[in-house]
Amino acid sequence: MDFDRYAVIGNPIAHSKSPQIHAEFALQLRQTLEYSRLLGALDDFSGDVQRFFADGGKGLNVTVPFKEEAFALAAERSVRAEVAGAVNTLLVVDGRLYGDNTDGIGLVRDLSINHAFPLGGARVLLLGAGGAARGVMMPLLEAGIGQLALANRTAAKAEALAERVNNWQLSGVRCQVTGCGLAALGGQQFDLIINATSAGLTDAVPELPAGCVAPGGWTYDLLYGEHPTAFQRWSQTQGAAQSLNGLGMLVEQAAEAFWLWRGLRPNTAPVIAQLAA
Ligand code: NDP
Repeated sequence: MDFDRYAVIGNPIAHSKSPQIHAEFALQLRQTLEYSRLLGALDDFSGDVQRFFADGGKGLNVTVPFKEEAFALAAERSVRAEVAGAVNTLLVVDGRLYGDNTDGIGLVRDLSINHAFPLGGARVLLLGAGGAARGVMMPLLEAGIGQLALANRTAAKAEALAERVNNWQLSGVRCQVTGCGLAALGGQQFDLIINATSAGLTDAVPELPAGCVAPGGWTYDLLYGEHPTAFQRWSQTQGAAQSLNGLGMLVEQAAEAFWLWRGLRPNTAPVIAQLAA
């Protein structure tokens, strides 16, 4: 029997949890499909993608280090992918390669639906100015936050990214984004601090001044693992009311891709619970 074929492409790729997540979604929604891992060639990403779709593949998730190349390859892109400058989901629409970025909406859904965090009017600090930070900015702004401060170890990158996003003049978004270095945050407080840096990969934490977490404030680390991340541990020392990791975001971005490909929305809660266990 011929199954609709999907895959996640990255390099390395063996660690990816996406096949397990999509297998759970397919089971839940009684969809017959195949979802595999594809080790992308570092020097021939576009060839890998073209072959996958030419062989009848229906959709690809794209992960490190190919999200910018996927952006360049897509003939059509969603606005949120344009703002991010990166694509994590590919499909063919009317014969053309279409790229979207579901990372940011995944974060927003995890915060607002799974954890009932009140994003409306919130003072939000976003740490980092790399691909992940770019990917989550527009969905956060569209969720109606009241302030978005972007801070990065290299201040100039945060300043440039803030300016870039402000220039988009997104409809319905009135909040201006500010960009600065980490030390410049002294004396400011935030209801939500999101860590979109890769510091945690070496068990490090961005060097923030003490006191940035407002009383009752939450933190969210895009990184996830079996144990609390360095940023989650730091958050506890700062009195954060909740410190979440990025597992929920991972499942939610996958659910959004499933929706784009299949027109069906999986129930994410049991899948998050299963992975967390
Ligand atoms: P990039 O390499 O594009 O960007 C890295 C960023 O981290 C830069 O802003 C860099 O600052 C900063 N940084 C690195 N080390 C430190 C440090 N020691 N202290 C302070 N800042 C530091 O990475 P990505 O944006 O692609 O990924 C960031 C994280 O997000 C990763 O951990 C990734 O796993 C996670 N992620 C999670 C997802 C999920 O679904 N949960 C989805 C996507 C990403 P500088 O500019 O100064 O170098």
